[in-house]
Amino acid sequence: MTPPARVVVVGGGIAGLAAAHELAGHGLDVAVREAGDALGGKIRTKAFAGATLDVGPDAFLSRRPEAVELCRALGLGDELVAPSAGAAYVWVGRHLRRLPAAMVLGIPTRLGPLVRSRVLSPPGVVRAAVEPLLPGRPLADDDAALGALVRRRFGTEVHQRLVDPLVGGITAGDTDRLSVEVVAPQLAAAARRHRSLGIGARKAGTGGDPLPGATPPFLTLPGGLGRLVEVLGEHLAGAGVDVRTADAVSSLRLGPHGGYVVEGRSGPTVADAVVLAAPAPVAARLVGPHAPDSAATLAAIEYASVTLVAFAFPTAAVGRRLDGSGFLVARGQGRLMTACSWTSSKWAHVASDDRVVLRVSAGRSGDDRADRLSDEALVVTLRLELAEALGIVGPPLEVGVTRWRRAFPQHAPGHRRRIAAVESELAHRLPGVTLAGAALDGVGLPACIASGQAAARTALAHALGRGSG
Ligand SMILES: Cc1cc2nc3c(=O)[nH]c(=O)nc-3n(C[C@H](O)[C@H](O)[C@H](O)COP(=O)(O)OP(=O)(O)OC[C@H]3O[C@@H](n4cnc5c(N)ncnc54)[C@H](O)[C@@H]3O)c2cc1C
Repeated sequence: MTPPARVVVVGGGIAGLAAAHELAGHGLDVAVREAGDALGGKIRTKAFAGATLDVGPDAFLSRRPEAVELCRALGLGDELVAPSAGAAYVWVGRHLRRLPAAMVLGIPTRLGPLVRSRVLSPPGVVRAAVEPLLPGRPLADDDAALGALVRRRFGTEVHQRLVDPLVGGITAGDTDRLSVEVVAPQLAAAARRHRSLGIGARKAGTGGDPLPGATPPFLTLPGGLGRLVEVLGEHLAGAGVDVRTADAVSSLRLGPHGGYVVEGRSGPTVADAVVLAAPAPVAARLVGPHAPDSAATLAAIEYASVTLVAFAFPTAAVGRRLDGSGFLVARGQGRLMTACSWTSSKWAHVASDDRVVLRVSAGRSGDDRADRLSDEALVVTLRLELAEALGIVGPPLEVGVTRWRRAFPQHAPGHRRRIAAVESELAHRLPGVTLAGAALDGVGLPACIASGQAAARTALAHALGRGSG
């Protein structure tokens, strides 16, 4: 009897796990090879200050269906919770200003809330207000840098104080070097369809306040997103998927009869199809001997590093009410921190009467100061900034530093076109080898899950086709 076809998934982050979940139950052998000691990749949940704390992603967008649907498929749908606090602030000059309600990724869609927020100076508001009168389509080309597009339409302040901090907070990127098509697809679509980007964004129906009772924009699991990984791992084991950790894949060779040999630390695995869900530099190394142009494109994708410092302080030490989800920091003001999440206000499961928990981020594309500081020096600097922003006095009860080196792929303008060329070269030279993960189509968990599922469907069709051929 011929053995069942086998698909090997390289990388056990959320993209690889979503791929394996999609592949399981189709009568194939499915294997996952993960380099780290645990599954989950950037998803990591730790015990901190008597609670569980995510030190990687702490929520996902619910506007895209993939993450919510995956949670439901795993029986976690009823556990999903929304943030308790919605309002966020931006640190501009010496003030924390509440972000205006009506925005799409920092693009103001109504003037009233923008004026009332006092995030922009009066000349900055006037400059933003003339956007609908500017000539020409906002986006004439295929793609553009988000920063340049926003500055051209709305002026420097909307860019520096709203769009760059918000998008930088999601991507750890420099919006002057990020593709609008990848990081803000809804804005790219609005910019092509309408004469005004602000009006286009509003018409896209995403610019207003959420309706009462509408689905909240973000969701998470109270035990931390590590629970998603744990339950995914259990489902894969239950479905007979061969999951191995501490098993870095070092090469991908052409195998007998048109298949592949995936060489891992634990030895070779023969595969009919392969999903490469490891970061782009690893995928580049694996495809390099067979598809050098694709390898060069993948290797050229830049990555930004972020350091996340969790602090617990006695509630009494904080000089203001933490009445929101946290604040972002406008670039170019000399601050080390890029964002501060008021985690114990944002999530009820982290709240406590006698202490607050903050997650402070530092480092982004073009700013590696945090990388060059020792943990001690980093914590001292961030405490000084916290004292200034929130009036925090006295020492923390607990501190935890997590360094995410080269963690955020940067999608430069033209990214989609380059990835299409990679996919077409791979289909030709390595049929059945597909890519997945954050480097492909965005860093958000829903995008990573979607990429894993799409790669799995391609791999499945290829493997089954070989089996029947
Ligand atoms: C601090 C932080 C905060 C974030 N916040 C959010 C958020 O709130 N919401 C959100 O939606 N997103 C957030 N993100 C982004 C999101 O977490 C990531 O984009 C996503 O988890 C990436 O998933 P992935 O599977 O593509 O990659 P990864 O998680 O990087 O997984 C890739 C896996 O491949 C493995 N690997 C590497 N080399 C090999 C090899 N040779 N062989 C086998 N395996 C290998 C790695 O060990 C890793 O486990 C955040 C990211 C970070 C770092």
